[in-house]
Amino acid sequence: CGIVGYVGRRDVLAADGSADPAPGINSHSALDVVLEGLRRLEYRGYDSAGVAVIADGGIESRKKSGKLSNLIDELDARPLPQSLTGIGHTRWATHGGPTDQNAHPHLADGDQLAVIHNGIIENFAEIKASLTAKGHTFRSETDTEVAAVLLGDIYRSLAAKGEASLTKAMQLACQKLEGAFTLLAIHQEQPDVVVAARRNSPLVVGLGENENFLGSDVSGFIDFTRRAVELGQDQIVTITPDSFEITDFHGQPAEGTEFEVNWDA
Ligand code: GLU
Repeated sequence: CGIVGYVGRRDVLAADGSADPAPGINSHSALDVVLEGLRRLEYRGYDSAGVAVIADGGIESRKKSGKLSNLIDELDARPLPQSLTGIGHTRWATHGGPTDQNAHPHLADGDQLAVIHNGIIENFAEIKASLTAKGHTFRSETDTEVAAVLLGDIYRSLAAKGEASLTKAMQLACQKLEGAFTLLAIHQEQPDVVVAARRNSPLVVGLGENENFLGSDVSGFIDFTRRAVELGQDQIVTITPDSFEITDFHGQPAEGTEFEVNWDA
């Protein structure tokens, strides 16, 4: 029910040269940004919460049913490594009960890819059947995991052709998905990138300096920036620490609507 994404720059220290943030970390840790965003989005209601970050060792994820405080307890017990790239999700279950296993993120492509999703993939059963026939297995009952495995499968075939691109994989996956979705994905082979897509479900980019944000609404990043770009229907955005690029589901360049958030948070 709530979505947050963040990417910051590894090679830029705080402008004032202060010791805080930690060496190698830009202005924020991905986990801090994402948890703050999820806190802001709590008002929308949810039954589970989860996060994933890209660390030196690859993708790491924690997810828990229940309140955000359950996830925080889990993070205290099993801390995540520092990271500049992360995604966070609060879930309102539609397919599969509100369990830890069904909570997002869902991992795929040998746990190198993490996906979060708000909405419903209407044709998930049909896609799941064809992925199962190809030998893929599933660990949850969600429609979302089907989108994750599909995206991973497409990414892997692009990579096999020497054309690995999470953005391109998202475009091809979205051409097959029906229903309502805001989807965010990170892949450990592209550690400075978060890719997001929307159809019949909201998605906003937050523009920072040496860092960029994604949210299902501006509350997801309001503590960090007020410059925002709302995506149009059937659009995909790729954010890096210093760029954002919007296309349609077929890779054609597209434009969102830039605005300034002027309400008090
Ligand atoms: N349909 C997905 C699920 O049940 C996403 C629900 C949501 O919007 O949070 O896991």
